[in-house]
Formats: sequence, C-alpha cells, structure tokens
Amino acid sequence: MEMSIRIVKSQEKKTKPREDSLGFGKIFTDHMFVMDYNPDKGWHDPRVVPYGKIECDPSTMVFHYGQAIFEGMKAYLNDKGEPVLFRPMENIKRLNMSARRVCIPEFDEDQLLKGLKVLLDIERDWIPKAEGTSLYIRPFIIATDSCLGVNPSKTYKLMIILSPVGAYYAEGIKPIKIYVTEEYVRASKGGVGHIKTAGNYAASLYAAKEASDKGYTQVLWLDSKHHKYVEEVGTMNIFFKIDGKLITPPLEGSILPGITRASVIELASDMGISIEERPISIQEVYDAHSEGRLEEVFGTGTAAVISPVGTLCWRDNVIEVNNGQMGDLSRKIYDTITGIQYGKLEDKWGWIQRI
Ligand SMILES: *Cc1c(COP(=O)(O)O)cnc(C)c1O
Repeated sequence: MEMSIRIVKSQEKKTKPREDSLGFGKIFTDHMFVMDYNPDKGWHDPRVVPYGKIECDPSTMVFHYGQAIFEGMKAYLNDKGEPVLFRPMENIKRLNMSARRVCIPEFDEDQLLKGLKVLLDIERDWIPKAEGTSLYIRPFIIATDSCLGVNPSKTYKLMIILSPVGAYYAEGIKPIKIYVTEEYVRASKGGVGHIKTAGNYAASLYAAKEASDKGYTQVLWLDSKHHKYVEEVGTMNIFFKIDGKLITPPLEGSILPGITRASVIELASDMGISIEERPISIQEVYDAHSEGRLEEVFGTGTAAVISPVGTLCWRDNVIEVNNGQMGDLSRKIYDTITGIQYGKLEDKWGWIQRI
C-alpha cells in the first residue's frame, strides 16, 4: 500500500556550519523523517518534520532493555553537483534484518527509501561540497511502550536524522594502530553480532577504552569461543592480503555483514584478485608476517571506506604491516569505491542512486 508522506517545514533555518570544521555526528539538519508503529495501524504516518526533541516517559522500553536498531549510510554530491546515495537499499534491507532479530515489526522497504529521498530532497543544501565530505544518514528504530516487562514493545518509532560530516581523512590517510584483545569479545554465534543493535556498541566501549589508554586506535576482536580467529576491527570488517590473496572472515553469525565488505569482495574479484572468505587465526596473521608474506591489512566500513592497519599488538608482540604504510591494493580499492561514489569512475554495478 502506497502511503503519502506528510511534510511539515521548519519555520527557521539553521545557519550552515563551515565545511572545514564539521567533525562527525555533532551537527544536525533542519528536518527529520518519522514514522510510527502500533498493532492497529501497523507502520503509519510517515512524515518529514522539523528536527527536534522527542518527549517520552522514563519507563519507555528502549531505555531499559535496548530494543533499538540503526543504520549508517551517506549522501554525497557527485562531481556534477548531484546528490547521490551508495547502495541505499542494502542498508534498508539490513535494517529490516536487524528488526526481525530483536522482534521489531518489519517496514515496507520501498516506502522507507521513498521517505529517505523526500527528506534528502528537502535537505539537499545540507550536503557539504568540500572534497571527501558527505551527509551522514542515521535511520533508527526504538521501542516506545511505557512498560518495564521484558517483552517486545507493541509500539515503535522509526526516525531518520541527517548530519553533515567532514572528510574522514582530512589530514591524509594514516594507517591505524590496532590492539588484539584476548580478554573481551564483541559477539558470539547465536547472538546479535550480525545486526546493528544498540547494545553491541555499549558492549564494545570498555575494550576500546583500554586499547585507547594503551595508545591504540581500535580493538581487533577474536571469536568468542576460542579467542583465536579474527572477526572484526572496531566497527569495521577486516581484510588481510597474504601472498597476493585477499582473506576476510566468513559471515557466520557473529560478524556484521558490511556493505563496504561486500563491495570490496566484488571489486577485488573484478580486479582479478583471488579472494577467500574463510576463518583466519591471529596466529596465521603473525606467521605470515614473520615469513614476510603479510602484505596489507585494512578495515572496511561506511565512515572510512578503507582504513589501513599499520600496527598490530597481540600478546605484547607488536608488528608493523607494510612498514606502517597504506598498501597499493588498499589504495586502489579506496580510490575505486570513492571514485564511484563521487561520480569520477563509471558505476558499472549500478551502486549509485540519484535522489
Ligand atoms: C556498520 C558496521 C560495519 C560496516 O558496515 P558497512 O555497511 O560497511 O558500513 C562493520 N562492523 C560493524 C560492527 C558495524 O557496526
């Protein structure tokens, strides 16, 4: 059923921030998309309204049991100045996949894409123009019943908020330093590691803080059972280049199925690079390094696209990957994906959608 989207324009327009001091996720645009759910009406009243506070009861379920899911995507201005999205339907489908796992009712995916496009059309002046900048898009759903029972909520709110963000690599790409934790785990099979649900990120903060106190940028997570196989790095998927081949851990329930990860796999195969999705132990990575076969390591995610790893620390054993420099393949994949996003390269996969 086609629902029409109600629009309430904001009375005041905020002053646009300077594009050289955007940072990440601190500034929000004039409008937001909202849609509600209740058992009688289902998902209803999709609307674009002025960005603003929501009032809720202290007993609202999301505050207590974390029935909350989200997505992260970006809108860019391509080199013709047109606003575009990168594989937006993949994010929308993943939001529904997350919804199913935490008992949130699914929404109509085409309807949500339409709502997002209506919102972006109204906010198109908020997409920053400077090289590497973008408009970060945060769709999310929260449980809104006022009740302390541990049950699925009966009512929900789906919102999309927008934030202009600075270039991730404003000072050039610097390889990151990674701490391999054997003490903490991010997710286990059968759990919720494969979806973007709020609690996963709360659970990761302590290990990230410890790593940061030791002078590392992020944590490398190992599997929860053996503390042996590599899973992810921070909130990114991870790739290793060993003997000319790309290796990335398989999606078996505890790893987030990244859209950047999927795009890298397609691009690398297209470039003729052999790619293996298989378990890889941290010992194998260290062995490859000591035998001079570990060529590159990089993380993938929407925010950074590609984040080269320059240093790894495991059991007090610190190794440098590619002399702490970004590798050629990491660079080539980064240039290809961002080239497609900003319209400099041909989009033969149909990954780009105009708004
Ligand atoms: C979002 C996320 C990723 C990357 O997913 P993309 O779709 O590439 O942005 C990887 N790992 C975790 C834990 C994430 O939350």
